[in-house]
Amino acid sequence: MHNEVEITLKEALELLENASSESDILRIKGVYVGKNGKITQLLKLIPTLNADEKPVFGQQVNKAKEKIVEKVESCLEQIKVKRTGSVPDQTLPGRRNWLGSRHPISAMVNQIVEVFYGMGFELAGGPDIETEYYNFDALNTPADHPSRDLNDTFYTKNGMLLRTQTSPVQIRVMKQQEPPVRIIAPGRCYRRDTIDASHHILFTQVEGLFIDREVTLADLKGVLTTFAHRILGPGVKIRFRPHFFPFTEPSVEYDFSCLICQMKGCPVCKGTGWVEISGAGMVDPAVLKEVGYDPEKWQGYAFGMGLERIAMLKYGINDIRLFLENDLRFLKQFNF
Ligand SMILES: [Zn+2]
Repeated sequence: MHNEVEITLKEALELLENASSESDILRIKGVYVGKNGKITQLLKLIPTLNADEKPVFGQQVNKAKEKIVEKVESCLEQIKVKRTGSVPDQTLPGRRNWLGSRHPISAMVNQIVEVFYGMGFELAGGPDIETEYYNFDALNTPADHPSRDLNDTFYTKNGMLLRTQTSPVQIRVMKQQEPPVRIIAPGRCYRRDTIDASHHILFTQVEGLFIDREVTLADLKGVLTTFAHRILGPGVKIRFRPHFFPFTEPSVEYDFSCLICQMKGCPVCKGTGWVEISGAGMVDPAVLKEVGYDPEKWQGYAFGMGLERIAMLKYGINDIRLFLENDLRFLKQFNF
């Protein structure tokens, strides 16, 4: 190797070896192989050489340049290792990005809608902010009914309200179409309630409505039993209790057996072994008249269900508040 190239190379490698920072290394790189660097300058000697010396010298200079660039790379790598304190283990598997999942209530809505699709129901919906007419009047709710009370319902300043049930969707659908009707309507509902392990001011209901000729309460029981078995398994029991709702006659409340305690009694079922799911019944003739259907020709049943309660039974969740707290420790347990 030409003496001068050899000396310059040796000098550069020694300086790099002793450099202690990234900026030092890059500065040395500039001094030797930069645009006007010492090695680059050596190429300017080529025209002064003999014809047979020229290619050999050129090769030597290029080799020296390669060696310096290689050394710069390895010195930078060493600094990096010193800084992070570890050598990267290239045999480790890659990091997986965390993908979110559906909220358990959204997943529950999808499952329920799927079951009712299978029984011929169609999806329907309505607004969360309703008029008194759709939420109460058209559903045969008298003006002095306690559910209209300011202590039970959220009213807006302009006289609207946050719907207390998904039943207004029944009226909206029936006013728009002729019977028969077979719909399922999931959605959020709002009530002024005291928040505890099984009550919340915001909850999700699924409304069902079936209007046809010669429909009976037995059809309703059959559909709800099939539903319970599809969603919660064949072991779940269902019971009807007589009740009163302004918009159904006769009316029932229906309960599912508590799967959390296997009917032994727990806070979710309040020690009774049964969890109240919601109300149901045969659509009151006054409601059918209100939407322009002839009650002599058409009958039907309607039902609502509290979705959080069903999710609690299905997944063994003992507190309704967990659904709205956005605690990732809770939500990550569901992989829908
Ligand atoms: Zn229980």
